[in-house]
Amino acid sequence: MHIEVRNLNKQFGDFKAVNDVSFDIEKGHLIGLLGPSGGGKTSILRMLAGLEHPDSGEIRFHGQLVNAIPPQERGIGFVFQNYALFKHMTVFDNIAFGLKVKKFGKAQLKDRVMELVELTGLKGFEKRYPHQLSGGQRQRVAFARALAPEPQLLLLDEPFAAIDAKIRQELRSWLRELIERVGITSIFVTHDQDEAIEVADEIMIINQGRVEQKGTPWDIYKEPKTPFVATFIGESTVIERGSQLKGFEEEAAQPGTKALIRPEYIEVGLAQEFNLLSVTEEGIVGHLHFRGSEWMVEVQVGEHKLITYRSLEKETLQPGQQVRVLVHRAYLFNEDRSWIAE
Ligand code: ATP
Repeated sequence: MHIEVRNLNKQFGDFKAVNDVSFDIEKGHLIGLLGPSGGGKTSILRMLAGLEHPDSGEIRFHGQLVNAIPPQERGIGFVFQNYALFKHMTVFDNIAFGLKVKKFGKAQLKDRVMELVELTGLKGFEKRYPHQLSGGQRQRVAFARALAPEPQLLLLDEPFAAIDAKIRQELRSWLRELIERVGITSIFVTHDQDEAIEVADEIMIINQGRVEQKGTPWDIYKEPKTPFVATFIGESTVIERGSQLKGFEEEAAQPGTKALIRPEYIEVGLAQEFNLLSVTEEGIVGHLHFRGSEWMVEVQVGEHKLITYRSLEKETLQPGQQVRVLVHRAYLFNEDRSWIAE
């Protein structure tokens, strides 16, 4: 289902939780709403669901205005973080719940439930009760239950928040595959950037009630439009006076221009490792963290602490050692614009 949201606003008392938000979602896409706590993600989701009324703005499903349509008639499936399964019902009955409401016949209901049981990898668990399942299994039941009545839109509010790290990782790829197979338009709220990057076709970064940026995870990582987005997605160091950065003095000359540098655009090493013509700065090695395939190196350059990586094949650096630092690329920002400088 294609979704259009135009100029959506929601205020609670004096507080503007959602501030003039507009976006489109293509049919079949999985969108991640990512942002800090209190940014307005859940409020947006609740308005799409019809659980909250916007103060103003329009929501359209398939081109049809749904503002006045009640939640149960919007064709939406939900999955929330706290596995809101019916405790006194078996897996089968939990999944069947929405189908009974829709007055499915007995045979048809059984076929559909078993289809979902297969799809979500729950074969053999049909007769169990929620307390006899692991957290990951319970969440799969929640997905099966949400998908059973064939919703047009699936809303997921931090569906894996209560699950431990390893299972969570497995569930992410599982979800990705599931959504691809079912082909349903889905919106997924998280404040975990890795989760959003891994799972979503597109990410919307929500901050202070606004959409800061919308794009594929790769585009957002590569071309963040605001310092907030750049620091929220991926690691980076912000340099308040970008003109202090060697090699970027002219590009960042306008007062108020900040520079933001990702670890992969910084090279750190001994003087002899650099070409004499390279514009390098002097740095002092700080902490070194072994990351399995490389070292993460903190390096102090003037008043700034930069973070970068260094291959295990190179000579190991020591804390306190003097090194040269080369910055290949920076994101520059000021009040008017953001751009990439090399
Ligand atoms: P989180 O990641 O913590 O769930 P969020 O980005 O989903 O945050 P929302 O839950 O949408 O943010 O909340 C946005 C703001 O609106 C918050 O400051 C919250 O306190 C406020 N808010 C949300 N619902 C209500 C309500 N019913 N009454 C008053 N304030 C509310």
